[in-house]
Amino acid sequence: MSDAIYTVLRDGIARRRDEALAMVETLAAINSGSTNTAGVQAVAEAAAAAFDGLGAEVVTETLPPWERVDDEGEHRSETLGPLVRLVREVPGAPSVLLTGHTDTVFPADSPFQSVWREGSRLRGPGVADMKGGLVVMREALRALESGPAAGRIGWEVILNPDEEIGSPVSAPVLAAAAARHRAGLVFEPSLPDGTLAGARRGSGNWTAVFAGRSAHAGREHHLGRNAVAAAARFITAIDALNGQRPGVTVNPAFVRGGGASNVVPDRTVVRFNVRVTDDDDAAWVERQLEQAVASVHAPPDYTVALHGGFSRPPKPMSAGQQTLLDALRACAEVTGGTLDWAPTGGCCDGNNLAAAGLPNVDTLGVVGGGIHSDSEYMEIDSLVERAGLVGSLLVALATGDAAFPEGGDARDPAGP
Ligand SMILES: [Zn+2]
Repeated sequence: MSDAIYTVLRDGIARRRDEALAMVETLAAINSGSTNTAGVQAVAEAAAAAFDGLGAEVVTETLPPWERVDDEGEHRSETLGPLVRLVREVPGAPSVLLTGHTDTVFPADSPFQSVWREGSRLRGPGVADMKGGLVVMREALRALESGPAAGRIGWEVILNPDEEIGSPVSAPVLAAAAARHRAGLVFEPSLPDGTLAGARRGSGNWTAVFAGRSAHAGREHHLGRNAVAAAARFITAIDALNGQRPGVTVNPAFVRGGGASNVVPDRTVVRFNVRVTDDDDAAWVERQLEQAVASVHAPPDYTVALHGGFSRPPKPMSAGQQTLLDALRACAEVTGGTLDWAPTGGCCDGNNLAAAGLPNVDTLGVVGGGIHSDSEYMEIDSLVERAGLVGSLLVALATGDAAFPEGGDARDPAGP
């Protein structure tokens, strides 16, 4: 690596620090909870405008509605915000996929809405997860396209509106995009000390709707079929899966059912989350869930409708991901920095890209903490530091200073 090009790149990014920080503040001030369609759209438009001038074609896609089962067990259809794609094609050159999400976990009526600076930190909803990350992405691409490596590598940005609800609608778009590129960069925040995520566990969410038959609890108790009791048997069965297999956890998280105590309840809704370490775990869990359902499902008295599945397959450390992490570390070391990574139980769109065969690093956004809570913050200095890191990686890939991963992240196509 000739260091000069990287020093110039980082200096350029550092000069734009104030503008970049203001951009994070602007984006974070717009509420964009996943179901706040207008807010997500406003963030998508502002972000797309921020990428203007980088030579990319901008495509705004309307997604199909999000079909879900609500807390009462009813099917609902929710309109989501748009998905934005920015495509910079360079014929004959390899290309990189960069993804980020425009939604946050904070709904429109969340009390956590303001954005403020506090010493070395910026606080506010989504500053780390991931409006800061969107700005890191923009600054890194701008640095690439304004330097000598411009036009030597292709790239595509996808900004999806539904990451915080598990990317239920954008997942197929991400999987299709994964096939078009040689490396993936995802801009979730790193851990609070700057460590990146390596291997990630997989995750699935389910909603089980139990139906029985209502009856008067005194006069005709024998005619009733108690859906709360049936759900309790099911919950006990799935909770017993904990500890049976290392790396698998099951979390019954929500129950709603019943009403007046003199009525046999006829409906109960249960939601639960499962985390797994590998594809074999996931297959095992699916078999166990089938058995747990079968042990309760007895029509016409009791029926169980199970909705959901693994939305984030496990992301084991792969050779391709290792290649990218090593290249990032080399970029950090050019300016005397260091970079580490560690496995984590969390999951994100990086899981989906890996499952679709694209080697990726998924915590290239800002350094921050307190995410998904009202203590969320980002380290202001990390905005420039991480943009420099990602910009350096893009230049290194474009110039051949760093190698692209060989092949893809091959997986068992029968896996979840
Ligand atoms: Zn996120």
